[in-house]
Amino acid sequence: MMEVPRVGHSVSSPTSPCEDMIKNLSLDAIQLCERAGNKSLDSGIAEMEELPVPQNIKISNITCDSFKICWDMDSRSKERITHYFIDLNKKENKNANKFKHKDVPTKLVAKAVPLPMTVRGHWFLSPRTEYTVAVQTASKQGDGDYAVSEWSEIIEFCTADYSTVHLTQLLEKAEVIAGRMLRFSVFYRNQHKEYFDHAREAQNNKMLPSVKDNSGSHGSPISGKLEGIFFCCNTEFNTGKPPQDSPYGRYRFQLPAEELFSPKTNLYFADFYCMYTAYHYVILVIAPKGSSGDEFCKQRLPALDLANNRFMTCSEDEDGRLVFHHAQDLILEVIYTDPVDLSLGTVAEISGHQLMSQSTVNAKKDPSCKTCNISVGR
Ligand SMILES: [Zn+2]
Repeated sequence: MMEVPRVGHSVSSPTSPCEDMIKNLSLDAIQLCERAGNKSLDSGIAEMEELPVPQNIKISNITCDSFKICWDMDSRSKERITHYFIDLNKKENKNANKFKHKDVPTKLVAKAVPLPMTVRGHWFLSPRTEYTVAVQTASKQGDGDYAVSEWSEIIEFCTADYSTVHLTQLLEKAEVIAGRMLRFSVFYRNQHKEYFDHAREAQNNKMLPSVKDNSGSHGSPISGKLEGIFFCCNTEFNTGKPPQDSPYGRYRFQLPAEELFSPKTNLYFADFYCMYTAYHYVILVIAPKGSSGDEFCKQRLPALDLANNRFMTCSEDEDGRLVFHHAQDLILEVIYTDPVDLSLGTVAEISGHQLMSQSTVNAKKDPSCKTCNISVGR
């Protein structure tokens, strides 16, 4: 954890949390009129009334929407403390417009409890986000006003990704709208001609996994971490075939579904999101059993039963042949975690249009959609 220099944002005597919030709205103005110096230079009476400043702040047990905080305190005047004020700011918003609602720093007022104290709240904590935090001790006076200590040093921490508990909640929401299952027989991947030329010439005829972008849920544990290759399996309900349009390029690599998805692979649910449209996307991961991608997913994602799930299945028919189905009402984005040899399928030009607007590269999830958001950090 890194320490940053303290910025002067102490409010010398907050009258109420509410007023504090208002003061924080114009943080820059407060900084301008803040007094220099510290309280130890004040009179002897002020010295006696001084509340202990939190020292050596430690953050632990960080999740996507909670953390534990503790600190050391001088035992002097400790019994006078009735409240803790916690000043929490998104680090990335330090220079952002503070008048926009989402950028308002959060000043939390907590009743003094034994430390460590758990701070939890999805309305002010987002997953995978850097925060700065400072604490002051406070004593509620007879008139409802607060006497406060100096602010502590400022420390930084980063909230965690969605845990499998949260991902399981997302999975259950996705199941609700998955719809009936349609048969499919191929996976396909659209790209530009240069992509396939490069795979042939520089990568020994193989498409190689690359790190997943930041599309989808902000707290997704695979964004920026899991390496894989995106495939589609959706078919048009009237033809039973892949659509001829694609946002990703005029060339399409297509291969039999069993080359990627079979009892030799594990299947994981990774994400559920939309982008301010009626369509919803589900990201699934196929990982060859025992591969490094499989190990990564095993620790972070809910596993799906190959033959029995609402999104994409692989099962055997009476003759022992593998049959594949995908959910009709979701757009599935399937990540395969190992290299794929082009000799396993064919590359051909598609006849349809390149629908750039439907691309999900680095797509931002709609945080207000009730269908695909869970009640934890966004
Ligand atoms: Zn949605």
